Amino acid sequence: MSKSFIVTGCLGFIGSHFVRKCLQEGHYVYGIDKKTYAANELILKEFQDTGEYQQLFKFSQEDISKLEYLPDCDYVVNFAAESHVDNSINRSTEFLDSNVYGVHRLLSLVSSKSQYKAPLFVQISTDEVYGDNLTPIDFTEEQKLQPSNPYSASKASADMFVLSWHRTFGIDYLLFRPTNNYGTNQHPEKLIPKSIQLLMREEKIKIHGDGSFQRCWLHVDDTCDAIYDTITGGYKNFTFNISGDEFITIKDVAYMICESYFTKTSNTGVLDNMRDLIPQFWDDHWIEYNYFRKGADEIYKINDSKLRSTVDWFPKRKFKDNIDVIVTDVLTNYRW
Ligand code: NAD
Repeated sequence: MSKSFIVTGCLGFIGSHFVRKCLQEGHYVYGIDKKTYAANELILKEFQDTGEYQQLFKFSQEDISKLEYLPDCDYVVNFAAESHVDNSINRSTEFLDSNVYGVHRLLSLVSSKSQYKAPLFVQISTDEVYGDNLTPIDFTEEQKLQPSNPYSASKASADMFVLSWHRTFGIDYLLFRPTNNYGTNQHPEKLIPKSIQLLMREEKIKIHGDGSFQRCWLHVDDTCDAIYDTITGGYKNFTFNISGDEFITIKDVAYMICESYFTKTSNTGVLDNMRDLIPQFWDDHWIEYNYFRKGADEIYKINDSKLRSTVDWFPKRKFKDNIDVIVTDVLTNYRW
C-alpha cells in the first residue's frame, strides 16, 4: 500500500538515494531541501522529469529550521544536515542551525499534530556520536555519547532532542546511527569523490596521517534499505546502529581508487598501464600523506546486531564491487 513520506535533505547524498527507493516502491514523497552547496539540482530534475515519478513526487525548497508547516503524512524522514566535519571545525554555527534547531523545529511541528495525524519521526544520526572506539568491543546503542567535533556534537544533541520529545510529548520515532556511507551522488568534499576529482586534475589524493585510520564502509543503498525496511516493517521507538562488515583503512581506499581510476584511464593511452598499477608508484606520485584534521577520530566500531535481529537486514553490497561504479560516475557524469 502506498504511504506518504516527507523526506528532508532529499537532494543530498543519502536522502536522494532514499527518495529514489521510495518512488520506485510506489510511495508518495514530499521532498524538502534548503539547496545548500551540498544539494544536487540534477537529482531534482531526475525526480521531477521521470514519468513514473511525476505523480508521486513534490518538492519544496525550505530550511527545516524555519519551516512553518508540515503537511500530513505517514513518515517524516530527516536527512537534512550540514554533514562535513571539516566545515564544522571552521564554522560551527550553521551546524547548530540545521542539525539542532532544524530537528527541534521538525519535532515541534510533528508534536503539534493531533494524535491521529502525527507521523512517525525518523532521524538520521551517525555513528560519530559515540566518538572513536579504541576498545576491543563494538559500541552498541547503549554506549555513552562522546562526540569529538562540532559536527558530531550537533548530531548527538539532535539525538537527545528526539528522545526527549518521545518521553515528554509521546511522539513515535526511529533513530538511526549509520556508519560511513559510500556510493554515487556524494559531494566532492568527501574522501572518495574528492580523491577521484584530484586524480582527474592530475593532483595528489590527500589523506590523514599515514592512512592507517580505519573506517567501516557501508553502501548508501544498504543504508537506505535498512531505514526503509525498518519504517515499513512498522517498528517504532527504537534506536538502531547501522554498521557494515567492511573495515578498510583510508590508505587502502586510496589504493582502490587509484587502481580503478588508472585502469579506466590507461585505455586512453594517456598513462602507462603497468607503471600506474603499482602501489609504490601511487604512494610516490599520487598520494599525499600527513594531511591533518583537528580532533580526528581513529576508528568507529559499532555493533548493529539489534537491527539485524529485529529487521531482516544485512549489508549486501561490497566495496570492491562498487568502487568502479563510483569512479565511472565521477568520470562521466560529474554534476557539481
Ligand atoms: P549531504 O551533505 O550530502 O546532504 C545534506 C542535504 O541536506 C543537502 O541536500 C542540503 O542542501 C540539505 N540541507 C542542509 N541543511 C538544510 C536545512 N537547514 N534545511 C533543509 N535542507 C538542508 O549529507 P548526507 O551525506 O546525505 O547525510 C545525510 C544525513 O546522514 C546527515 O544527517 C548525516 O549526518 C547523516 N550521516 C551521513 C553519513 C555519510 O557517510 N554520508 C554517515 C552517517 C550519517
